[in-house]
Amino acid sequence: MGGKGTDAIVVGGGLLGAAIAWGLARHGRSVRLLDEGDDALRAARGNFGLVWVQGKGAGCPPYARWTLRSAAAWPAFARTLAEETGIDVELRQPGGLKFALDEREWRERAATLEALRFALDGDYPFEMLDAAAMRTRCPPVGPAVAGASYCPLDGHVNPLRLLRALVTGLIGRGGTVEPESRVTSIAVRGGVFEVGTVRGRCAAPVLVLAAGLGNRELARRVGLRAPVGPNRGQILVTERLAPFLDLPTEFVRQTGEGNVQIGDSMEDVGYDDRTTRDQMARIAERAVRVFPRLAGVDVVRAWGALRVMTPDGLPIYEASSERPGAFVATCHSGVTLAAAHAGELADWIAGGERPADTGAFVAARLRAPAPGGA
Ligand SMILES: Cc1cc2nc3c(=O)[nH]c(=O)nc-3n(C[C@H](O)[C@H](O)[C@H](O)COP(=O)(O)OP(=O)(O)OC[C@H]3O[C@@H](n4cnc5c(N)ncnc54)[C@H](O)[C@@H]3O)c2cc1C
Repeated sequence: MGGKGTDAIVVGGGLLGAAIAWGLARHGRSVRLLDEGDDALRAARGNFGLVWVQGKGAGCPPYARWTLRSAAAWPAFARTLAEETGIDVELRQPGGLKFALDEREWRERAATLEALRFALDGDYPFEMLDAAAMRTRCPPVGPAVAGASYCPLDGHVNPLRLLRALVTGLIGRGGTVEPESRVTSIAVRGGVFEVGTVRGRCAAPVLVLAAGLGNRELARRVGLRAPVGPNRGQILVTERLAPFLDLPTEFVRQTGEGNVQIGDSMEDVGYDDRTTRDQMARIAERAVRVFPRLAGVDVVRAWGALRVMTPDGLPIYEASSERPGAFVATCHSGVTLAAAHAGELADWIAGGERPADTGAFVAARLRAPAPGGA
């Protein structure tokens, strides 16, 4: 590998790395995106595809505001990606529903969302729907559901198209994407990062670590910390059905092609990304309880993938004071936050102001070990 003229090296070709790399390229930076091969652990290729606001940041208003800003930026972000790359990421943002199976759950949800709205000075859009209002909004919901919350900013996308669009956009702006290039060493000489991979070496004055679970190890090498650990989610996909669900819900969404995606477990099982019968049965049973018409529908695919989790579930965006020019970025809502990562976060890394509301997202706040992590 060469390295001449590279302004920034981004490690990790998942949704975080690709969004930041494209955002930097839009600033005119020459960017190399280094990634592993197809056998790597990649949340970006196994997620559920929601742009989701509801409930995010309960107990942490800055995270709620950061999420809201990203969701609001999504339409323009998707449009720009389409204009630059010709790829439609299939954003649908009609609002989303989160169901409550009984009165108590409904009331607790209402209290949580009211508290969030209060913390955000009223700037937090949601509605609590009783059973009748919910069925008017979403007729196929079954009798087991007591009600729902609704947020007009919730939506969904095709996450694989999103990844493809970001990478295509990066290449279109002169960046390079280098798969099978696992980073094995990082050295700093004269303010320049020299990065060794299994295929060679490259160098740049800016280094962004966006390597998902790999950040845990890599961050230490530039004086940063990323105590992330894995959390498994399993997802089912049904055969194609005639359109019946015109808005996403927290666990069930119908894609543009008619398949119904059903998610997703949250399991602390270390680095095991397999599917299991018990979880698949539980996921299917919950979906049928909410949408009885899914009983008898064929499941055609299932997978497990590992979330990249910090102990408190909040992101880490940090610049190294020990190694100026090095950054680490990690979060567990890389679809939702893609617009903010390609926009405000990339602007900061390119030399601008740190985005509002992100000042607390540094590793120093974390003391407990990450779930599933060492
Ligand atoms: C089941 C599931 C459901 C989800 N649902 C949603 C959702 O609905 N909405 C939402 O917003 N988010 C969702 N997410 C989260 C979202 O997928 C992630 O936040 C997003 O993919 C960003 O992850 P990442 O880029 O940090 O990590 P990854 O996607 O894991 O990418 C990290 C990349 O870094 C590479 N890498 C690691 N080490 C090295 C190294 N040493 N050298 C080079 N490359 C390296 C890996 O190969 C990988 O490609 C879900 C995740 C899962 C698992």
